[in-house]
Amino acid sequence: MADHYTALGVSRDATAEEIKRAYRKLARELHPDVNPDPSAEERFKEISTAYEVLSDAQKRETYDLGGDPFSAGGFNGAAGFGFGDIVDAFFGGGAARGPVPRRRRGQDALIRVNITLEDAAFGGTRDLSIDTAITCGVCKGAGTAANTSLVDCSMCRGAGQVQQVQRSFIGQVMTAHRCPQCNGFGNLLPHPCLECVGDGRVRTRVNISIQIPPGVEDGSRMQMTGHGEVGPGGGPKGDLYVEFVEKAHPIFQRRGDQLHATLPLPMTAAALGATLEVETLDGPVSVSIKAGTQSGTTITLAGHGMPRLGRNGRGELQVHLAVQTPTALTDEQEELLRQLATLRNEEKPDATLHQNAGGIFGKIKDAFTGR
Ligand SMILES: [Zn+2]
Ligand SMILES: [Zn+2]
Repeated sequence: MADHYTALGVSRDATAEEIKRAYRKLARELHPDVNPDPSAEERFKEISTAYEVLSDAQKRETYDLGGDPFSAGGFNGAAGFGFGDIVDAFFGGGAARGPVPRRRRGQDALIRVNITLEDAAFGGTRDLSIDTAITCGVCKGAGTAANTSLVDCSMCRGAGQVQQVQRSFIGQVMTAHRCPQCNGFGNLLPHPCLECVGDGRVRTRVNISIQIPPGVEDGSRMQMTGHGEVGPGGGPKGDLYVEFVEKAHPIFQRRGDQLHATLPLPMTAAALGATLEVETLDGPVSVSIKAGTQSGTTITLAGHGMPRLGRNGRGELQVHLAVQTPTALTDEQEELLRQLATLRNEEKPDATLHQNAGGIFGKIKDAFTGR
């Protein structure tokens, strides 16, 4: 579960400059050209994705709000600015770029998976069917028809770019452009594979099975390395990101690893005390209500909350008691209550006001708003 801020080691309120600095520093250490360690390459991809999101004000905002920063363009569209562009910007690769390879890494993909609170609590397996690109089975990614091959581009002689000299007020200016004949590849496909029309991959629907890690939350993302699309020319697969969308539960309200629920309690039970069977994610649990329990009292059931992602233990379930005032009284009930009021000297209740600081209403409100 890659958090982009953690990946770059910056705080959530880092400035654009701090983000850029952090990325540059890490990129110099982890760039595949300077660090041969395969784990460094993974980290480099991770920080590059993080930088791609956080360096773009709009994507960053979308990400901060829990949305998908790649929904428009980046992941599936050709318009997004990619991994290579960022690398070029920092390592000066743009100026002396050779031909564009036909074989390139595939796009990352994002799928959203709806889960229930129970799925999030106990994990599980989910079988999914996703649209993706796989290597063309006919040409095995080469893009060429059987017994044919690529030929060098005659216009750029394999360079992928053509020079153009222009006169301007500062003299002659030489600029390099992408070769229009080969589109920068430096070579041509005179006989493309008929199955994939030269792309080296075909679109299809595949079934995958994913594990829901116990403790995931709404918006949690899981990176499945190498489960994205096969790249053009049969290039290596991108990554698949699975985002979990947690449905609201009819009873339990979740805050991190804590669960909250309200238990309505008859006035008589609150006054006299009772033992109740309370429903939890783990089945019914016996709860003792002491005599004289006030409305707003919270009963904490340790270990009946949510698991902590990647860690041991579970949070607590907080049951908020709401004492119910009896309504629709029969004549007999009303008479009994009047007798009780007389016995308790409450026929004319004390009308002294109290400050509400930290009172029962405050507590209930705090529990639900997280303050
Ligand atoms: Zn093919
Ligand atoms: Zn060319």
